[in-house]
Amino acid sequence: LVVIDKVEKHFGELHVLNDINTVVNRGEVVVVIGPSGSGKSTLCRAINRLETIDSGTITIDGQKLPEEGAGLAKLRADVGMVFQSFNLFAHKTVLENVTLAPIKVRRIPRKEADAKAMELLERVGVANQAKKMPAQLSGGQQQRVAIARSLAMNPKLILLDEPTSALDPEMINEVLDVMVSLAEQGMTMIVVTHEMGFARKAADRVLFMSDGKIVEEATPAEFFDHPKTDRAKDFLSKIL
Ligand code: ATP
Ligand code: MG
Repeated sequence: LVVIDKVEKHFGELHVLNDINTVVNRGEVVVVIGPSGSGKSTLCRAINRLETIDSGTITIDGQKLPEEGAGLAKLRADVGMVFQSFNLFAHKTVLENVTLAPIKVRRIPRKEADAKAMELLERVGVANQAKKMPAQLSGGQQQRVAIARSLAMNPKLILLDEPTSALDPEMINEVLDVMVSLAEQGMTMIVVTHEMGFARKAADRVLFMSDGKIVEEATPAEFFDHPKTDRAKDFLSKIL
């Protein structure tokens, strides 16, 4: 579904993505881990074309990422993105947050969009919050709304960049549970997270990044139990 080939990016002197190559198949869950500043967010942003790349190619479902224009809107509709800071529209209700893009971008009639949104809010366990404003929800609830909002576009792929790292500990699991169930339902996901329990349980593959490079790529069992490089061993010794 996603093919990343020889991708390079610099921020000035900084080589933030250094020869990135990988393939994400349909239905796969890929967890990206690595130290702060290793390029994980930049890679996610590049896949959604929120960030340009210097060279190399990224193709999604056979289509090379568009430079700009209508193709870009289509790409954003097909690739869901969930951030650390939930990024909900503060002045819209929970329900409106979920229906906005389907109505505006997909031109789905409001009634149908509302029904689909309620179904999704149900699925992530916050249907009873539909009429509230985001600020009235807990962080975990807001993040689950953000996941429902990205699902509302029927994306081919969802990118989640540290979706639980802004949450209080007691709310992390409610969000991880939703992510695990999405994974089990066959959603293709690229997840930047330090939640190793999630990675072990749900990931098909772990990508370990360091200094802009993919240093290891392995199954969670291989990676956590038998990391090959000193950098991965060192990183794991700090977080496990
Ligand atoms: P973290 O775990 O802290 O989220 P990360 O692996 O997601 O880190 P990135 O956000 O991809 O790291 O950043 C990689 C490097 O690129 C960092 O050194 C960062 O300071 C730098 N960087 C990111 N965005 C920009 C930008 N717009 N301009 C210049 N440098 C940037
Ligand atoms: Mg980041």
